[in-house]
Amino acid sequence: MADEGSSAAAARRVIVVGAGIVGVACAIHLRRQGCDVTLVDRDEPGQGASFGNAGVLACCSVVPVTTPGIWKKAPGMVLDPDGPLFLRWSYMPRLLPWLMTYLSSATVEHVTAVSKALAPLLFDAVDEHKALAADGPGAPHVREALYHYLYADKAAYEGDAFGWGLRRDRGYAWEVIDGAALREVEPHLAPGYACAVRLRGHGYISLPGDYVQALARAFADAGGRVVKARVTGIQAPPDGPARVAVDGDVLEADAVAVCAGVWSRALAEGLGLRVPMETERGYHLHIEDPSITLNGPIMDTAGKFVATPMDGGLRVAGVVEFGGLDAPPSAGPQALLRRGVKRALPGLTWTRDSTWLGHRPAPADSIPVMGPAPGNDRLFFAFGHHHVGLTAGPKSGRLLADMITGRTPNVDMSPYAIDRFQ
Ligand SMILES: Cc1cc2nc3c(=O)[nH]c(=O)nc-3n(C[C@H](O)[C@H](O)[C@H](O)COP(=O)(O)OP(=O)(O)OC[C@H]3O[C@@H](n4cnc5c(N)ncnc54)[C@H](O)[C@@H]3O)c2cc1C
Repeated sequence: MADEGSSAAAARRVIVVGAGIVGVACAIHLRRQGCDVTLVDRDEPGQGASFGNAGVLACCSVVPVTTPGIWKKAPGMVLDPDGPLFLRWSYMPRLLPWLMTYLSSATVEHVTAVSKALAPLLFDAVDEHKALAADGPGAPHVREALYHYLYADKAAYEGDAFGWGLRRDRGYAWEVIDGAALREVEPHLAPGYACAVRLRGHGYISLPGDYVQALARAFADAGGRVVKARVTGIQAPPDGPARVAVDGDVLEADAVAVCAGVWSRALAEGLGLRVPMETERGYHLHIEDPSITLNGPIMDTAGKFVATPMDGGLRVAGVVEFGGLDAPPSAGPQALLRRGVKRALPGLTWTRDSTWLGHRPAPADSIPVMGPAPGNDRLFFAFGHHHVGLTAGPKSGRLLADMITGRTPNVDMSPYAIDRFQ
């Protein structure tokens, strides 16, 4: 339990910028603590990365993309049209400084630190989502399920020993099962998967965009204010009210929380704070009328994509593409997801689908940014959740709300401090 704090900084009027899963969760928790909360987004809630993700409540995903050896593997992955890594070469000059830091963090020591920072945000995510949604309209979207990591054989599983060792060190447990046991739960999977990891205590969100919208409705029903406007500037001096400029108007509050996903980098820069963060562009293929479906999310470890049952559909998502925020979607990643799902579920047919490109907020050190600006308890941040923001969103929002209201969070927040980049 968080302690009730007596900080003079306990803020009552708070503006939360960004209505993705992180911002909405923060807004709900602030409201529950009695704050007067305004949630601002340039769009409807849940239209950023939180809209089209794979929906997995990936409690075990403490292993970052950059594991030791990535230096050797990455060039081959970029050149392989069946590899899950894409690069828009014209973006390379802008990407390079971030990429060098990103790749140089692929050491055993740093990856262990990342896993230690992520575990407290992820391990109890299903419960955190249930608590966030409570008995409101978001609750039916939170589903408990087994999560299966699929391998061609036991040797392929053993080839992933580093990641599983890291999970074991963080206290996770799982079963290694054979193809027959896998098919008792997921009968439609291709026979090529002869080994799988079965994780209990996981789950998924049955339609992430609708879920975040439902949470935002619950927030408004509880007296929160939702404003649709683009934030063009923030002023938050430590000793005065915070001011947020929106489309020709100015909103005022005691504190402001920047939860704007990958777009937080520009907002932080406007406040004089540097954060090396890039978009890891990811894609989904949403199949609307699948002939067959799954009973829970699966991760194809070779193809590095996820498939998740959704309300009235099946979503296949994954791919990392570097190419910045402005470039249009690329054809290659979409084709790759189509090939992948046909390989994984050979009996699958459909007639209607849609594709989507989204932006994972990726700090160069793979650790989310959460907490106050240096020496300023009126300006807060929560962003940079990479591949696990849906999972970690409710807990992150709760921890940030605690910090904003002067409570002591029940997690050591020092690894997430924005100070590390200043
Ligand atoms: C293909 C793909 C699959 C994924 N799968 C999973 C998964 O299975 N499980 C998981 O846990 N995570 C997954 N993720 C990651 C997850 O989606 C993100 O980490 C998470 O959604 C980030 O949430 P957020 O609230 O920080 O940002 P966002 O959802 O991007 O929200 C940011 C909000 O800020 C608003 N905003 C930005 N700038 C401004 C401004 N100037 N003024 C006003 N509003 C502004 C935007 O409109 C947006 O609504 C996946 C991501 C992708 C791309």
